[in-house]
Amino acid sequence: MTQTRTTCPYCGVGCGVLASVRDGEVSVQGDDAHPANVGRLCVKGASLAETIGLTGRLLHPQLDGQPVRWPQALGAAGDRLRAIIAEHGPQAVAFYASGQLLTEDYYAANKLMKGFIGAGNIDTNSRLCMSSAVIGYKRAFGADVVPCSYEDVECSDLVVLVGSNAAWAHPVLYQRLVQAKQRNPQMKVVVIDPRRTATCDIADRHLAIAPGTDAGLFVGLLQTIAETGNVDTGFTDADAALELAAGWTVTNVADFCGLSVADVQAFYLDFITAPRAITLYTMGINQSSSGSDKCNAIINVHLASGKFGRAGCGPFSLTGQPNAMGGREVGGLATMLAAHMNFEPADLARVARFWGTERLAQTPGLMAVDLFSAIGRGEVKAVWIMGTNPAVSLPDSHAVSRALAACPLVIVSEVAADTDTSRYAHIRFPALGWGEKNGTVTNSERRISRQRAFLPAPGEARADWWIIAQVAKQLGFAAAFDWQHPHEVFSEHAALSGYENDGQRAFDISGLSELTRQQWDALEPIRWPVSRGHNKWDLNRGWRGDGQLRMVPVAPQGMQAHAEPLYPLILNSGRIRDQWHTMTRTGDVPRLMQHIAQPIAEIAPQDAARFGLHSDALARISSPRGVMVARVVVSDSQRPGSLFTPMHWNDCFARQGKINNLVDAVVDPHSGQPESKQTAVRIAAWQPRWQGELYSRTPVNLPTHLHWWRKAVPGLHHLTVCGDSLIQTELLALCQHHGWQIQVASLGETWHLLAWHQGQLMLGFWSSRALPEVDASLIVRAFSDAPQTLMARHALLGGRDLARPAVGKIVCSCFSVGEKTIIEAIEKQGCSTPGELGKMLKCGTNCGSCIPELKALLVCAERKVMIS
Ligand code: SF4
Repeated sequence: MTQTRTTCPYCGVGCGVLASVRDGEVSVQGDDAHPANVGRLCVKGASLAETIGLTGRLLHPQLDGQPVRWPQALGAAGDRLRAIIAEHGPQAVAFYASGQLLTEDYYAANKLMKGFIGAGNIDTNSRLCMSSAVIGYKRAFGADVVPCSYEDVECSDLVVLVGSNAAWAHPVLYQRLVQAKQRNPQMKVVVIDPRRTATCDIADRHLAIAPGTDAGLFVGLLQTIAETGNVDTGFTDADAALELAAGWTVTNVADFCGLSVADVQAFYLDFITAPRAITLYTMGINQSSSGSDKCNAIINVHLASGKFGRAGCGPFSLTGQPNAMGGREVGGLATMLAAHMNFEPADLARVARFWGTERLAQTPGLMAVDLFSAIGRGEVKAVWIMGTNPAVSLPDSHAVSRALAACPLVIVSEVAADTDTSRYAHIRFPALGWGEKNGTVTNSERRISRQRAFLPAPGEARADWWIIAQVAKQLGFAAAFDWQHPHEVFSEHAALSGYENDGQRAFDISGLSELTRQQWDALEPIRWPVSRGHNKWDLNRGWRGDGQLRMVPVAPQGMQAHAEPLYPLILNSGRIRDQWHTMTRTGDVPRLMQHIAQPIAEIAPQDAARFGLHSDALARISSPRGVMVARVVVSDSQRPGSLFTPMHWNDCFARQGKINNLVDAVVDPHSGQPESKQTAVRIAAWQPRWQGELYSRTPVNLPTHLHWWRKAVPGLHHLTVCGDSLIQTELLALCQHHGWQIQVASLGETWHLLAWHQGQLMLGFWSSRALPEVDASLIVRAFSDAPQTLMARHALLGGRDLARPAVGKIVCSCFSVGEKTIIEAIEKQGCSTPGELGKMLKCGTNCGSCIPELKALLVCAERKVMIS
């Protein structure tokens, strides 16, 4: 057996993973020696071994839809890019990269675009995730420095989570917090979020703030800190910041934020009296038309209160992606140059000297939303998209798709053969996936870790840095891209960080620039800076000329979206526990589809009543830009006037499941980050004539007017389908065409079908007016182990298994424990705590992400007992 220490490729927690390969079988476990997770993994990380199969992989280069060899694909990319640059100039070309890339890949892409093609047009999906946080830090500290670590979270007295559902989006860090709170019951946790999320499970206080009003809460806190007289004003612009805060009395804040005065006062008291306080924030803050100001409002209160630059304190932006930080370090945003340097004369000259180029871009390039608008207007004529899916993740995705469809040259480097974006590609480069890549990533706390390959490259897939270097050679820049190994790319990147850096630039990993390949291979996780010489780090100094930290004056603004009679609700987008981004990795893992398997729309009971909705109903949600269909979840954790829908679904997994079809491309003026969290929408119940579950061994071509959601099931095709016109004729014709024997049950609106061939189940379809409750595990078992008796087959036709009871909706994905099983353990076996459930069923005993749901089921059962 071989065992490799590597890093999880999902969220910015950056957990260490031990990947073992025995007889070709891969298994994973948390790496006890990695400081980010100390052995823990969440369900996504624990399922990594299930994501590495080659089904659905892009394994060979393609040119205009045809498989070709690498020389042909690279030659075509070079020729077409060169022709566009010759005719329209370098500004007509753009790269759109991803926080999934390794630092070495990112460095190569940035160097090629800014250094040699000569335009600033390289932006990344990290723009959508944390670019407001970058602006916040840069404006306050003069550099993009995250001033906190995970240890700071554990040793704080007050942990404020704002705009962050860490329990689902950063589960291992959340579990560290849970345990820290258990160790120190004096620790307080405050969650600020319009929704009562799973993160609130450990909250001492939840402020269900009105969407988009967070800046008001923190500017008011600054004012209250000032009123105590115990305020530090030794920062640039402190007076101006305090002056702007002056009108933000507790009453005004409560009014602006839709909170009670008592709640606001209590939170302010928590913050002011806590010896140490740390604020964790993420997309709920960043994805806003004033996200940068929100970040600075948070930073300001930490500076003013002295809760900064010491253990357990500080403003801590959590990154969503595994290597968003690495992208920031190399300059993989259109607004940064390289190695944290800017488009300023001294930096431009320095980088040009280091790279030995005369073609260096002199001005910033187009940020993500503007970039795709420019493609739509025909100004950018070639775009190379690396490891990301902008046709799903960018706002106003219909417009993005139109832009890509009209773009003369779309190149895509991808792991997956089919994505919403790659459908527009003229050239497709097969990239390496997790387990095959070799390089480094940086997590939310500035910790650089190695992602190591433990699998061979499949098919003709190649590393992204290699593909970029080959295209650079085609464009005539061979000498500058002559790397033979990612270690060489890393060394160059590290050397640039220290180049002419006498302590003037915060990002400095020059101490790693002379590692031998062996040393680089063995590199232990390490937080930067790692300076070779002079860089004296002090969080209490600023990284701009005057050496000062700055309090940026903030005038709180609301969201751009406004509820109005036609669009009376505000739609919030976010992540669910078991899925990742646009599902290109997690969507095909059955275990990760067990928890939530189709787009949901969470709505408050008052709004559900107002719009005639009930749980499990289908609804159409629409804005002036588009429509999506989702299944309703009525929940009192949702703030009245708001809806919540996951951001993951796309055209590969659903018809009309894409939330970004609805979202407006409104951005923060400083960061260019879209306001993805607030869109004015309306919702209407949709009662299709029938709904059904379709399982088949072979793909079934459905009529285009039907709605469907694809679910991962091992070896099968599983669709939840619904529509207004019946598909019985089509399904019967299909069975006839294959010569399958059919078994049909029909009663009123219920219609079930089983198709058999040589004793094997080939297709199963269960439909009725409401979605039939068919237990997926029973059906899957019937496909691999067909029931033999007539009675058992009749039971299966009814969606039942005579031998085994149904487990219900899966709550614990780690151990596949279903809701029915859990309820039975509570009601019949007397389990009354998550611990007791864990002992009996194992649920909640691995990653712990389902514990809030276990608690909710326990509360539900308790209520039932009280009522009865
Ligand atoms: Fe991976 Fe994030 Fe889960 Fe850690 S918390 S295992 S990095 S997804």
